[in-house]
Amino acid sequence: MSHACNTCNGVIILVKDQDVVGRAARSTNHVDALVVGGGPAGLSAALYLARYNRSVLVFDSGHGRSTHHQTNRNYLGFPDGVSTVELRGLGRAQLDRYSNARVLHHTITSIDDHAELGFTVLSQGGAWHGRTLVLATGVLDHFPHFPGWESYVGRSMFWCITCDGYENRGKDILVVGHTDAAAGEAMQLHSLTDRIRLLTNSEVDAISPTFRGRLDAAGIEIIHDHIAQAIGTDGLLSEIVTRAGKRIGLDVVFSIQGANPETVLARQLGLRLTATGWIDVDTEQKTSAEGVFAAGDITSLHSHQVTAAVHEGAQAASAANYFLYPPELKAS
Ligand SMILES: Cc1cc2nc3c(=O)[nH]c(=O)nc-3n(C[C@H](O)[C@H](O)[C@H](O)COP(=O)(O)OP(=O)(O)OC[C@H]3O[C@@H](n4cnc5c(N)ncnc54)[C@H](O)[C@@H]3O)c2cc1C
Repeated sequence: MSHACNTCNGVIILVKDQDVVGRAARSTNHVDALVVGGGPAGLSAALYLARYNRSVLVFDSGHGRSTHHQTNRNYLGFPDGVSTVELRGLGRAQLDRYSNARVLHHTITSIDDHAELGFTVLSQGGAWHGRTLVLATGVLDHFPHFPGWESYVGRSMFWCITCDGYENRGKDILVVGHTDAAAGEAMQLHSLTDRIRLLTNSEVDAISPTFRGRLDAAGIEIIHDHIAQAIGTDGLLSEIVTRAGKRIGLDVVFSIQGANPETVLARQLGLRLTATGWIDVDTEQKTSAEGVFAAGDITSLHSHQVTAAVHEGAQAASAANYFLYPPELKAS
């Protein structure tokens, strides 16, 4: 049974009840599943979908958290750690084995929801249709911006104690942030080193008297100033120079300036978000919209880890695959 799509100028013909049509044999712009985001969550979702013999397209703009210089040392199976970029490359190579899956380097700018008929994603490069949709768009980190800042991310500029605390035991750490969250991180890092300072890098110093007292008691200096310049070689910081001209020698920065969930597309679709702005999902990664699933950092304020992203991607794919089965294949 087929339906013309009335919001895409008739370019795409939507086909319903297609499981019998031959799942892996779709036209190039008309697939079973669309995945937006090609980080660990999206690649994991695509791999599982491909192995369910679904046709799948992954769209990736290539600027997420997994595109920096860090080495993941807590991802099981890599005793010497694995660079996140290499991990993405391995995931892509794994996906390349499946002719029913493709990765396209496009930024998806909008999505049309055709209710039970599926979804159309749009980029400057075209329009693609899928019967189901997985959002794995990650977050946008607010690292301090100074000349050359990107070369330091993942080498000597971090944000996550779970990821990079252990390697930085005993080091000279500058925590950058102006809130109690930054003060709390400084206190937590203090259990790994006693060489910690905090730089607000903001017009505002919003650290509460309670945390100020705790920092003071721990001997953690608060510097209320902005970063003007960083000095370092090959991504390894050695000094920060503030606008006031203070020179702060250091080994690493932990930036606690927050991150924004990449929810533009989720908002377009009217998905329910959590109180703190993340895509609300259930334990199977189902969102509030039928046929839409979400995975990875985009789904929660905490637990931003590759392990979690890979797991959620797999879970989302399994739920999406089940969603695609015709009713007669479902037990309930
Ligand atoms: C410095 C640093 C160190 C880290 N260290 C570790 C560690 O040691 N261990 C660990 O487990 N985790 C670590 N992490 C966290 C880990 O990288 C993330 O948890 C993981 O990358 C999340 O995967 P994701 O697929 O959800 O998101 P991402 O990896 O951010 O991928 C999202 C992708 O979606 C794409 N995208 C977004 N919007 C669109 C759009 N509209 N159209 C097309 N594509 C889009 C982006 O370009 C991006 O490629 C670290 C992160 C950083 C920044």
